[in-house]
Amino acid sequence: MLDSKVGEMLDTEKDIVCDECDEVIDVKIESEKLKNNTKGYYFACNHCGEKYPFLTITPRGEKYLKRMHEMRKKSKEDPEFVKDPENVKRYQKCMEQYRKEITGPYKESDVK
Ligand SMILES: [Zn+2]
Repeated sequence: MLDSKVGEMLDTEKDIVCDECDEVIDVKIESEKLKNNTKGYYFACNHCGEKYPFLTITPRGEKYLKRMHEMRKKSKEDPEFVKDPENVKRYQKCMEQYRKEITGPYKESDVK
């Protein structure tokens, strides 16, 4: 399952309108392998098929993403978890590292 953090890269509160056909896109995020061992996230217009790549992530970035996901899950199960400043610090550190491993949209020529 795609981590919601990636979803936050997109402003999902607002409707995303397709540049090609002007219809509101029902966003479903997908991923694909890119060159340089990275992974790309994109969504496509469900009306005309126009593709919108929006994020590139390294394998290390995915590890951080997974770690953050686990910590969020833990904090939901155990409210005490977030009360520990060490855990909060660890999460923020993870987030910092994660941000270094991601870049924005990629080109179709980057796809493996
Ligand atoms: Zn479209």
